[in-house]
Amino acid sequence: MKRKIILLLTALLATLALAGCGTFTCDMCGKEKSGKSYSVTILDEKATICEDCHDGINAIKDAFK
Ligand SMILES: [Zn+2]
Repeated sequence: MKRKIILLLTALLATLALAGCGTFTCDMCGKEKSGKSYSVTILDEKATICEDCHDGINAIKDAFK
């Protein structure tokens, strides 16, 4: 019985660790996001941004073409 609980806890911790890896805070909009993150350099500063902000930057880039 005890072993089952330990196994359950281990499985739970593993799930939490995975979830933690998938979330990040976007440096542009400041929102906590899960899923795809983009590493960009804005004015010589490295930033991690979400997909929405990345699309926004691309839209601005396109506008200046
Ligand atoms: Zn964002």
